[in-house]
Amino acid sequence: MDKKIAVFCSASFTIDPKYNKVARDFVRAASLHGYGIVSGGTIKGTMGEISDELKCCGGHHIGVIPRFMKEYVYPDLSEVIWTETMAERKTLLRKDTCAVVALPGGVGTLDEVIETLALLHLKQYHGKIFVLNHDGFYEPLRQLLEHYVRTGMMTETTMSRMVFADTAEEVIGNLED
Ligand code: AMP
Repeated sequence: MDKKIAVFCSASFTIDPKYNKVARDFVRAASLHGYGIVSGGTIKGTMGEISDELKCCGGHHIGVIPRFMKEYVYPDLSEVIWTETMAERKTLLRKDTCAVVALPGGVGTLDEVIETLALLHLKQYHGKIFVLNHDGFYEPLRQLLEHYVRTGMMTETTMSRMVFADTAEEVIGNLED
């Protein structure tokens, strides 16, 4: 698969279904535009939802999974990449992707997207970074990053590399710029 996007998303089963819907909409649209999706690849929460969606639409879905989570692996992935640790998993989730997208998620998702932003700042990641700010979910993160810029902790250039998009379509449109 030439064009790959990593998606970071919730492993929780107790979130508002609207967040699963926007995640499904995004992976379906990305898949129809010819992108392979790389994800955490388990049956849990939004990860399971996007796996179902990609299975339905025939999308190419690569799961990157630590061996200690093997009982949670989604059964119908196109490819599985096993890792020993969560740190290795984060590296391989990003590897050779043209973009990463943080869908609404918790601290695991936050960790994945912020590590990617730190690497981009250090020129160790060269793709695009999107945050799917569905219903303003990521406004508190935007405010934190703006606070970092105001206090000189982060450059405006780095901030501008993290694209806050309101809809799945906006991410897709921006991917191809
Ligand atoms: P969270 O956003 O805290 O729900 O964590 C989900 C994100 O972190 C996913 O993108 C996964 O890569 C990773 N992750 C954390 N916990 C789990 C889990 N129990 N099962 C699968 N992936 C997880």
